[in-house]
Amino acid sequence: MSEKVKLNTTPSKIDVKGDAWILHFPRFGEEGMHYHTYGLLTPYFKGLTEGKLLGTKCTNPKCPVYHGKGELWIPPRADCPDCHSRMVWEQVKDPKGYVYAYTYVERGGTGLEIETPYYQIDVKMDGVCSIVKGYLIDRKPIKIGDKVKAGFLTGDKATHTNLDVYWELI
Ligand SMILES: [Zn+2]
Repeated sequence: MSEKVKLNTTPSKIDVKGDAWILHFPRFGEEGMHYHTYGLLTPYFKGLTEGKLLGTKCTNPKCPVYHGKGELWIPPRADCPDCHSRMVWEQVKDPKGYVYAYTYVERGGTGLEIETPYYQIDVKMDGVCSIVKGYLIDRKPIKIGDKVKAGFLTGDKATHTNLDVYWELI
């Protein structure tokens, strides 16, 4: 077994319709192709394939909760749930954080596209209000609080899914 976790997936094709990506997801083989649009969240997935982690924040000064000083959400939300205005995109520069919680996955369910065993981790990052769920690419034993940084599957390696961001120990 390798020291790094590999994916059991092939990159999904995408169509571009306006600003939105439409993912081809061959869930049941070619005959059972599932088409899924990322819609307004397309910049997040496009960003991953370019090595960027993007989130959204509410900057509406009339927002009853955030008053124009919204915190950054990852995964992103297209619209603010409190004032319903369009959220604004922002890149996390040099994305790092620490392991907030983890699960050691030895046996995955049908359709799991990550080679087991691996650590599914929840990451807390500075400047991001949400806890980000992802997978650790290292197979070393970990503990709560371990520092991690984001890595990306870009170019030909990109799957065009959330698997394009992984975490590695610092
Ligand atoms: Zn708002």
